[in-house]
Amino acid sequence: MNKITNHMPTAELQALDAAHHMHPFTDNSALAKKGARIMKSAKGVWLTDTEGHMIIDGMAGLWCVNIGYGRKELAVVAAQQMEELAYYNTFFQTSHIPAIALAAKIAEIAPKGMNHVFFAGSGSEANDTNIRIVRRYWDILGQPEKRIIIGRRNGYHGSTIGGGSLGGMSGIHKHGGLLAGIVHIGQPDWWSEGGDATPEAFGLARAQELEAMIKQLGVENVAAFIGEPIQGAGGVIVPPSTYWPEIQRICDKYGILLIADEVITGFGRTGNWFGSETFGIRPHIMTVAKGLSSGYQPIGGSIVRDTVAEVIASDEFNHGYTYSGHPVAAAVALENLRIIQEEKMIEHVRNVAHPYLKERWDALTEHPMVGEAKLVGLMGSIALTPNKATRAKFASEAGTVGYRTRERCFANDLIMRHVGDRMIIAPPLCITPAEIDVLIDRAKKSLDESYTALKADGLFVAG
Ligand SMILES: *Cc1c(COP(=O)(O)O)cnc(C)c1O
Repeated sequence: MNKITNHMPTAELQALDAAHHMHPFTDNSALAKKGARIMKSAKGVWLTDTEGHMIIDGMAGLWCVNIGYGRKELAVVAAQQMEELAYYNTFFQTSHIPAIALAAKIAEIAPKGMNHVFFAGSGSEANDTNIRIVRRYWDILGQPEKRIIIGRRNGYHGSTIGGGSLGGMSGIHKHGGLLAGIVHIGQPDWWSEGGDATPEAFGLARAQELEAMIKQLGVENVAAFIGEPIQGAGGVIVPPSTYWPEIQRICDKYGILLIADEVITGFGRTGNWFGSETFGIRPHIMTVAKGLSSGYQPIGGSIVRDTVAEVIASDEFNHGYTYSGHPVAAAVALENLRIIQEEKMIEHVRNVAHPYLKERWDALTEHPMVGEAKLVGLMGSIALTPNKATRAKFASEAGTVGYRTRERCFANDLIMRHVGDRMIIAPPLCITPAEIDVLIDRAKKSLDESYTALKADGLFVAG
C-alpha cells in the first residue's frame, strides 16, 4: 500500500504548492510569495498544521464539518463501501443500496411533503440542477416561457457558471459572466444598507423588491426565486424577522417556485435540521451539500417537494452527473446523518452550544470595534465599525479592516473568516463550552491586537 507520507519541511511543500497548485478564490501570485499554511491532521474542532500548531477551526472547514474531524466510523464505512461496490451509476434504470438508503433517510428528516432527492457532487452542481428542474417543471406544465430565476445581490449559490449566476456576487460575475435569465434583487442586510429604517421595515421593503421585480418581468416569465435562509458567504447576514414571511407570501401569491439554498443552513447548523424550519419557510426545493456528509465526501443534492417531483417524473429529464448518488459518498453521508441523529447533535446546538456561545458572542459588542453581533444556532457574525451608533463604514477600502483582523486570528491559531469588514464563524456542531471559551479568548485577543494596530496606523476612522 502506498499511503501518502511526507518528509518535506513546510517551506518545500509551500514551494511545490506555489509551483503546481492553483488555489480557488485566491490571488495565487500573492499567496506564492507568502506560502500557504499547510494542514496536516484534525480531530474534533482542532486542526494541526505542518508546524505543529493546534488551530481551533471556527469555520468547520468551509462550513461543512458539522460532526467534527476525525470520526473513524465514516472512514470504516467508506472503506467497506469501496470494497463492496466502489462505483455504479444511477442513470439507465439501475440503482444501488447507498443511494436508495440515503434518499429515504433524507426524506425522513426533510420537512413534510419533501420526499424526493436528486443527487449531485456539490452545492454548485445541485444549484445547476435546480435551474434545470424549475425550467423543466414549467415546460412540462405548458409554460416554457417561465424561465427567469430571481436571486439576490450578495447571495452565494456556488461557483459553477449556473451557481455563480444565481448568486449575486459581482466579483464572480466579473470573472466568467452571468447567465441570461437570472436577475437579482437587494439583500436583507440591515446593518450595511438599512439606513434610518427599522430592521423590520427594512426587511419588509427588501422582500417587496421581489414583488416589484415579478411585476416588472411579468409573472408569465418568472420560474423561481432562490435565497439562503441566512446568507453565508455574504457575511452571515441574518434577515430581519419580517423578511421571510413576506418572501413566502409573494411566492405563494404569484405561484412561483421557492428554492431555499440550505447548503450551509442544512443538517443542524441553525438548531433545526433545516434553516427553513428555523425561519418558517415552505420551499419547493432545498439545495443541500456541505453538512450532508460533514465534508468527509463530496456530495450534494436537491430535496424536491412531491408536487414538483411528480411533474418532473411525468416525462424524461435529460440531466444527471456521473457521480449523482455516488455509493461511497452516499454511504458516508448516511453514517454522518446517523451520528448527528443518534448523538443528538442538533439538541446539543440548541440546548448547550448555542446558548453558551450566544452569551459570549454578544459580549463581544463591548469591544470598541464591534458593532452588532448575530448568532443563529452556530452561525455567527460581528460587524466591525469605527462608530457603533451610526453603523459607519471605515474610510479604508471595504475589507481592509476585516482582512487585518482575520490575519491576527490566523496568527493566534483561530480560524475566523472575514467578509468585507464582518467577521464570521460557523464551528463544528460538536463544539463544547470549554472550546467555545478558547475560541472567544482568541477572538478577543485578535480583536485587541487588530484594534491597537489600526489605531497606530491611522486606520480606525470612519469613511
Ligand atoms: C458553499 C455553498 C454552495 C456551493 O457548494 P459547493 O459544494 O462549494 O459547490 C452553494 N450554496 C451555498 C449557500 C453555499 O454556502
